[in-house]
Amino acid sequence: MARRHTKKPAVEPFRTALTFDAEHPDRRSTPGVQERLLDILDRLDVKATFFIQGRWAEAYPDTAARIAKSGHLVGNHSHYHARMPHLSRDGLDFDIKTAEEAIIAATGVDPKPWFRNPFGAGSDSRRVLKALDRAGYVHVGWSVEAWDWEPDRPLAELVDTIVDGLVTARDESVALLHTWPKRTEKALPWIIDRLRDAGAQLVRVDQLDNIIALPSGPSS
Ligand SMILES: [Zn+2]
Repeated sequence: MARRHTKKPAVEPFRTALTFDAEHPDRRSTPGVQERLLDILDRLDVKATFFIQGRWAEAYPDTAARIAKSGHLVGNHSHYHARMPHLSRDGLDFDIKTAEEAIIAATGVDPKPWFRNPFGAGSDSRRVLKALDRAGYVHVGWSVEAWDWEPDRPLAELVDTIVDGLVTARDESVALLHTWPKRTEKALPWIIDRLRDAGAQLVRVDQLDNIIALPSGPSS
């Protein structure tokens, strides 16, 4: 086998963060996915970052509590999952605060200063960013997404998009995933294995240095 005799290039370690938006799905997702996803992270000893929707935390307080208990970083993903630019100044302040209270009630953890705008909408809006700043937050974007929520997206494509994207982006990269698609649960062990093979250290967003500079695009 030629491969055995070929010296493998040294793997350069780099830090990358898996982030999950924990929110109400558009349609009924398979029950238990979000819990099994947490099982996988526990089993493979990965600490990730979860942006929790306030209303979701009210609906799934035990799962939300487990996220915090497992050592994952907790962020705020708004209360109603509306597009933030559509909200008035008062609406923004109310939504951010209401989500924060719901997340604290469920997890015991203050999600500040980590916030992710639903759909990434408003990450280029001064008005939205100022509202986040008033409330003590920064928006956390992402370097790579794989539209894991889209029905019928092939599993291999999801794994390849995330792994190749993060490996190409190297240090300080962030992947956007969601807690509820069945496909994400299936892809996760492959993603983690392949990233580690490529030298990735899987860290929480608060272990990165440069999250403010992250781009983000429209998504879920
Ligand atoms: Zn979302």
